[in-house]
Amino acid sequence: MPEIPHHGLPAHEVVLLLEAHPFEGLDPDTVSRRRQLYGPNVLPRSKRGELLRKTARQFNNPLIYVLLAAAGVTTYLGEQLDTFVILAVVLVNTVVGLVQEVRAEGALDALRHLVQTHAAVIRGGVRLEVPSEKLVPGDLVLLEAGDKVPADIRLVRLWGLKVDESTLTGESEAVSKDEVVLPAATPVADRRNMVYGGTLVTAGSGAGIVVATGGETELGEIHRLMGTVQPMATPLTQKLSRFSMTLTVGILALAAFAFIVGVARGQQPAEMFTAAVALAVGAIPEGLPAAVTVTLAIGVRRMARRRAVVRRLPVVETLGSTTVICSDKTGTFTENQMTVRALWTPSAQYEVSGSGYGPEGTIRRRAPGREDVQAGRSEALDDAALRWCLLAGGACNDATVHFEGDVWGARGDPTEAAMLVVAGKGGVDIKEFLERTPRLDSIPFTSELQYMATLHAAEPWAPGSIVLVKGGVERLLELCYGQMDRGGETVPVEPKTVLRAAHALAATGLRVLATALVRLPPESGVLAGAPIERNLVLTGLQAMLDPPRKAAAAAVEACHEAGIAVKMITGDHVGTAVSIAASVGLDGNPEDGTALLGIDLDNIPGVELTAAVERATVFARVSPEQKLRLINALQAGGHVVAMTGDGVNDAPALRQANVGIAMGRSGTEVAKEASDIVLTDDNFATIEAAVEEGRNVFDNLTKFIVWTLPTNMGEGLVILVAILIGGTLPILPTQILWINMTTAVALGLMLAFEPGEPGLMSRPPRNPALPLLTWALTLRVLLVSALLVGGTWWIFEWELAGGASLPEARTSAVNLFVTVELFYLFSCRSLTRPAWRMGPFSNPWVVVGVLIQAVGQIAITYSPVMNGLFHTAPIGPEAWLRIFGLALLASMVVAVDKRFRRHIL
Ligand code: ADP
Ligand code: MG
Repeated sequence: MPEIPHHGLPAHEVVLLLEAHPFEGLDPDTVSRRRQLYGPNVLPRSKRGELLRKTARQFNNPLIYVLLAAAGVTTYLGEQLDTFVILAVVLVNTVVGLVQEVRAEGALDALRHLVQTHAAVIRGGVRLEVPSEKLVPGDLVLLEAGDKVPADIRLVRLWGLKVDESTLTGESEAVSKDEVVLPAATPVADRRNMVYGGTLVTAGSGAGIVVATGGETELGEIHRLMGTVQPMATPLTQKLSRFSMTLTVGILALAAFAFIVGVARGQQPAEMFTAAVALAVGAIPEGLPAAVTVTLAIGVRRMARRRAVVRRLPVVETLGSTTVICSDKTGTFTENQMTVRALWTPSAQYEVSGSGYGPEGTIRRRAPGREDVQAGRSEALDDAALRWCLLAGGACNDATVHFEGDVWGARGDPTEAAMLVVAGKGGVDIKEFLERTPRLDSIPFTSELQYMATLHAAEPWAPGSIVLVKGGVERLLELCYGQMDRGGETVPVEPKTVLRAAHALAATGLRVLATALVRLPPESGVLAGAPIERNLVLTGLQAMLDPPRKAAAAAVEACHEAGIAVKMITGDHVGTAVSIAASVGLDGNPEDGTALLGIDLDNIPGVELTAAVERATVFARVSPEQKLRLINALQAGGHVVAMTGDGVNDAPALRQANVGIAMGRSGTEVAKEASDIVLTDDNFATIEAAVEEGRNVFDNLTKFIVWTLPTNMGEGLVILVAILIGGTLPILPTQILWINMTTAVALGLMLAFEPGEPGLMSRPPRNPALPLLTWALTLRVLLVSALLVGGTWWIFEWELAGGASLPEARTSAVNLFVTVELFYLFSCRSLTRPAWRMGPFSNPWVVVGVLIQAVGQIAITYSPVMNGLFHTAPIGPEAWLRIFGLALLASMVVAVDKRFRRHIL
């Protein structure tokens, strides 16, 4: 560590200190040596103390308090066996809770690796993209808008760099960076010449030297201080925790009341205390919050398998209630594989052959009124406008095209790659152009600006430097005063003709860009917006095909069937949007208001906006700001909105949406950071899949609750009745513990693995205002509770009357209770369909759980050791016959209830 911190040194001294190079970067040998020395650039996770803390958390639970109190009393009464069983249960409960928590966290943790961040570095003079974890101190890193800063970096060069440092400082306003030397005492938030790992670049670009990686970064320091706690809580888990807390308090009060009533009636206090404990233990639904977490975690894992990575857990709940999906067109509905198909200049129209990014293909002129004329490369070039159109497309461009494996692939923006390829087909040598007239400055493309411009040095024979521009047609027309004719002369621009040509091309689904140029005086070395305004000469149009994704149409249809509206949002021309929309099954028409322009969102008054956006399915020429307006209008109409985004400017919309969805491949880090879900394949069909899984999670939660509540109510009521009528307990506290512990894990939890039901995507979205348990389901819970209580008492009395001993009668009661629950589990696999309609193997976990439970029941009934521990005794085949008979009867009652009330769920 240096005496003076990095921000207190001039950039060149930092470079020297770290034995780095300000332009060439580190050489690969140094990189591998440093990687050995410093380790990977990842945040350390403090493991120490975490396990202890988690274990302690398991004990902080009212059930455990009750159990420990009970263990104290049984010890006092000299019932060592009971004490032992109770303590064993406390132990098992802790271990099960711990395992569930760790596994659920593990599932979330694993997701983080699915979304890897990359960093642009220069090593040995070559620009590379490497995973962020492979950075080492001394690396020369390039940053641009949309990136997540991969490590702590001392800036050496920058252009308008602005960084959102809220992760570090809590300050949400982006800070402007600078390259000055600062006093050593400057606090982190004011170190303008540094950028810190985990912060986000919102504007501009820069380059700098990595000074700290991994745990040595400022963020690593914070992590060490706070420990990494992934919150597992969601609104639903919180609601359920509160619900079970209230219930617990009520049940404890009830148990205390029962104890007092019993004692007042002259019963033994010790006996009454045991009964009260049994009541409390049985009735408290302690497994509920844990089961919810497990169900959510399983849902998250399923979504990841279907290429939707969840970043924020609560979204799993929201997905199931989504009523509108607003999705980008480019890349989501389409492949984002652009190929220029047609060119237009003020004097001619051309067709381009070839496919993908391959260089094969020719440009042919389509002469009006004549047979198509084959145009050789040379002929293409004798239209000066065409030559400049191809040059602007190819040189005002940051993409590259490579032969990878056996196909030609693009790096960078596919739109630009396509323009690079077509320049090659027209025989225009971009490389040579750039050598002769190197790029001096550029304005990068943004969705607001809708164009990109580059400034090139003066050509030796022509006066002045040259600015090449490409962008949206309407936007460029605003900037043009002239257009280029065949001979290269400038004539006044004819906006109507250009627009007509653009519309015609867009109507066939092609994305249309215009190209233009302007010559500037030789001394202008930088580009600002001003010299471009109204100074441009239009050279032509390029129209490219971006084929719709194959799965998109089916996914749109599935959404419609599921009662979810789908809206297509794009920065493209309305004609292109409408045509692509039609190919995926979305109807949009500018005439009747089903296709709107971004500008309409600004102009339609607030009160009418909601109705207008509900009506429209296609939104064209939309800026990120207008996306935000669109979401607000939909939310004002009570919609739950899912919205996709990929750019820096999409972040506010992604945050505002109920479900913010970022593109994993083409999206910026800023967008991913602002989102709830990242699509690893950028595909619309994946959104639909995520919604489906979200609905399934909710279904399975409901199923679990509908299954588990009767158990708790049944257990509590069996004991309460015993106390109130002053009878013998049909089930002992330790036996209640057995039922509770085994069935919740072996039976109930298996419902979390239930696959989606056939009708899942043909129901309307869940109304988030509705309670989890509808009235019909509450009645079912009460019905099953009553069946459990009645059945248990009936068999207990029946066995006693038939001459069975007390332990035998209790064993029968326990077995009946578990068997009814077990049968009921099959019913709960669907809330509406009858149990026998589901193949028993569609969820193999249920079968596994049932087998485990069966082995457990045989053990507790027939193993002498278990008999001793749980005060049970072996029972005969007739008793089993009665048990199965009763359980079957109970199932039939439930089946009838389901049959007659399934439609009111
Ligand atoms: P989308 O939402 O469909 O991705 P964009 O906002 O990316 O739309 O693009 C909007 C318009 O901006 C396009 O129709 C095109 O005319 C223009 N455009 C897109 N990409 C570029 C680029 N790299 N350079 C210049 N103009 C572009
Ligand atoms: Mg785009």
